[in-house]
Parts: sequence; C-alpha cells; structure tokens
Amino acid sequence: MKESQKIKEWPLEDSYRTLPATFYSLQQTNPVPKPEVVIFNHKLAKERSIDETIPSTDMGLDWLAGNRIPHRSEGIAQAYAGHQFGQFTMLGDGRALLLGEHVTPKGERYDVQLKGSGRTTFSRGGDGRAALGPMLREYLVSEGMNGLGIPTTRSLAVVKTGQVVQRETRLPGAVLTRIAKSHIRVGTFQYAAARGDVSDLKALADYTIYRHEHAVSEEKNPYLAFLCQVIDKQAHLIANWQLVGFVHGVMNTDNMAISGETIDYGPCAFLDQYDPMRTFSSIDRQGRYAYGNQPYMANWNLARLAEALIPLLANNKETAVQLAQQAIETFTPLYTSYWLKGMRKKVGLIDNEQKEDRSLIDRLLKMMAEHKLDYTLTFRQLSTEGTLPASVENEEHCQAWKKEWENRVDQQSRSRSDIQNQMLSVNPFIIPRNEHVEQVLEAVENNNDNTLLRAFVKAIQDPYKETETSKRFAQVSKSKTPYITYCGT
Ligand code: AMP
Ligand code: MG
Repeated sequence: MKESQKIKEWPLEDSYRTLPATFYSLQQTNPVPKPEVVIFNHKLAKERSIDETIPSTDMGLDWLAGNRIPHRSEGIAQAYAGHQFGQFTMLGDGRALLLGEHVTPKGERYDVQLKGSGRTTFSRGGDGRAALGPMLREYLVSEGMNGLGIPTTRSLAVVKTGQVVQRETRLPGAVLTRIAKSHIRVGTFQYAAARGDVSDLKALADYTIYRHEHAVSEEKNPYLAFLCQVIDKQAHLIANWQLVGFVHGVMNTDNMAISGETIDYGPCAFLDQYDPMRTFSSIDRQGRYAYGNQPYMANWNLARLAEALIPLLANNKETAVQLAQQAIETFTPLYTSYWLKGMRKKVGLIDNEQKEDRSLIDRLLKMMAEHKLDYTLTFRQLSTEGTLPASVENEEHCQAWKKEWENRVDQQSRSRSDIQNQMLSVNPFIIPRNEHVEQVLEAVENNNDNTLLRAFVKAIQDPYKETETSKRFAQVSKSKTPYITYCGT
C-alpha cells in the first residue's frame, strides 16, 4: 500500500500573487492518466528540506505530475516577454505551472515549478506538454552544472505522464519539477516595460529586490544598485560558463534569470573540440549564441534590462539613460576579471597576476582551437600529467608554450602539489558530455533501464573526482560528426 495517508500537505507559499494580476494567470490542473516517477532527486530534497516521501505517495505523485496542486486548487502561469533571436515578443509560461514557493527552515525561498504540465493562457499554438528525453536532459545538465559549482535552477523530479506527445515522432510525455530561486527573467521586466505602467514595473522591481537583492533597498538609488547587482551576477555566471565550456544555446532575454541562475536548458551542450564559434543548436543557424558570443549576448540582454528599468532609475529621462549606460559599461570589465581569475586558476596560477598571464592563456586557447583539442580533457591532462595531449607532442610551438608555462608556474612560491590540487579542483574530470547524455536517455527511453541514469547522475554530481563510475563517462569517442541538439521540446 502506498503511504498516501501519511504524507503531509506541502505548505507552499505564494508571494508572487502579491504582484499586480497582470504578471500571472491562475491555472487549473491538466491531469494526466498514468503518472510514474522516472527519477527523484533525494540529494536536493535533503539539501532543501523537501519531504523525500513525495514520490512514493499517491498525493505526492499527483503533485509532481500536475494532477493536483499542493495546498490549493490553482497554480500560476507567469507572464513575460522576450527578445527571441533578437525579435521582441510577448510570451508567458506556455507549458509551465508554478505550484508555489517552498521555504526552507533557514528561510530561503524557492519556486516549485512544473514544466510540461499542460496548456495555459499563454500557450499560443503549443500543446503545453514536454517529452521525456528533453526533460531528463534538463535534469542531467542542471545537476551537472550544480556539481561543477555553477548557479543553476535544479531538478527535483521527472515523471512520465502516460500520454504521448506528438513532435517529429510520437514520444513519451513527461513533467519536470524545477526548483529555482525564482523564475523572474529579464523578459519579465521587458513585459512590464512594454505594457507601459510604471507602477506595475515598480511593483515588479520591489518584489524582485525582496526576493534576491534585499541589501540594495538601503541604497540611495535602489533600482540602480539592483541593476548593478544583476549585471555583476550575470558577468560571474557567464564567465563560469565559458570556463567549463558550456554553450547555453538559446540566450533569449526570456531565458535569462534575474537571480543569476542558469535557466531553461534546451539545446545546450558542453564543448568537445575547442572552437570559439561552436554552436550545437539546430535553430541557431547564424551562430548568434555561439560559445564565444555568449559574453556579448549577455551584455546585449542586460542592456534590454537596463532599458526596461529606465523609468525607475531617475525622474529625468536623460539622467536615467546615462545611469543605465554607465551600469551596462561595467559588464565587460567585470566579466573579463572573473574570466581571467578563473582561467589563471585553471592553468595553476595562484600568486599575484602578472602582465603576461593573459597572453599565456590566450596562446593556449589559440593552440587548442588550431589543433581541435578537447576543451575538458586538455585542461584535465595539464592538471594531472602537466602535459599537452599526445596529438600535439611533435608540434614545436605547443612544446615551446609548455616550457614557458612550466617556468611561469615554477616562479610561484608554492609547492607543485598545491598547484596541482588547485588545478584539479577547477578542471573537471567529467562534464555532462552529449554522447553520454544521449546514451543515458536512450537506455531510459528505449529499454526502460535506469541503471546508467543513476550512475551518470552520481558521477556528474562530483565531477572533479575521478572514480570507478566516472571513468566510463570521461571517455570520448572518435566520432567526427559534429553533434547537433534539437529543441525537440
Ligand atoms: P523556450 O524556447 O523553451 O524558452 O520557450 C519559449 C516560449 O515558448 C515560452 O513561452 C514557452 O512557454 C513556450 N513553449 C515552448 N514549448 C511549448 C509547448 N509545447 N506548448 C506551449 N508553449 C510552449
Ligand atoms: Mg524559456
């Protein structure tokens, strides 16, 4: 017998409903016939004090499938807008449902949102549903990002619905439960600005400050301080992405979270062979969101946020524009300093920065691009063996670089083992590499076999450590076909 009688209600809160009604629409459930748990994140549940018996009870399963809403009869679909590949559009959650906010004993507030839970008032032509593969993919990559130490929304569960969704083929349907600091996006501010009601915009800014940037309310110009905080967090986030070779794939302004968490995993991927212009997404034909463009696109998106905030920055429009511009101009120096700090760590430089460090790093990256070296494996080998990949052993300029690097590293007042330990702590042994993610998904989708899934999750949760389990996922096949991810949502 299931423990349905024993489970307590999930006392989710709903502070988002204190915002003006234009920011959301109330949604009833869209029940599914046969919910079945594929994976539940016990580690996350423990970290956030979420009841771990949820997936093993009828009521809990109904929550995760969107058949029932904890505590009340309606959830929320959030309104937002966004520049999608540069085009401005009014959007909103077309297939997501905010169940409410989970507050931990420490008072941290997290959104609990279902993705793939059915149509909403914002669905336009879509079916409101999601397929199992892409939902598991989000689960895996977000868990991997968290393991790498990069801010991200988390995944609590993936539940099969028992329904079929029609994409290019017929696929099993699924619902993902996402836990996030919030789902307020750059696009949420654009939505408020486009509607033109300054009091709504102010309400959104005040609410967001309450959720994420409490300290700025003490500032003389809290909205400007808020903008600066968001810029700083994004500069840090994008630097982190670049340092691990993560390509988001759809950096539209509706997919950029104000909290500074990585959000909306669609056709994302990790670099294999290093190539600054690498894209993976089948829909990004112009390379707008290529690896090397990510810092520029983040800067562009933040400029859209700054634009939206102009009515709040100063009474005088000219002053407000000037303040917005000055704030935006801080992005590049912030980003560059986070990136350089991270890159110096990756190549084992701990002591004070020297002028030549930047050039040493740039030349390594140039070499990696020229010889199509694997991004993750190259940095890892440099950490474990202190060597470059065998394929460039006979390349004079590569070996000259290596000598120069060794000299630079040895100039430091640190032991080799200190330096190596630092390198091993920032150069992962594994990343959620596409070929492994695909193998895992295939085993679950085609053979109903979760063994590989469990092993993979365990490995990517601890990606800097080399273990028996993780070895299998560090191997790279010799396939020369460039990997392409399809939205396939
Ligand atoms: P995304 O590309 O996933 O960031 O989504 C962009 C917009 O399309 C969002 O407003 C989504 O809610 C909406 N959307 C994506 N897939 C679907 C779907 N299957 N049904 C309804 N809306 C969708
Ligand atoms: Mg999105």
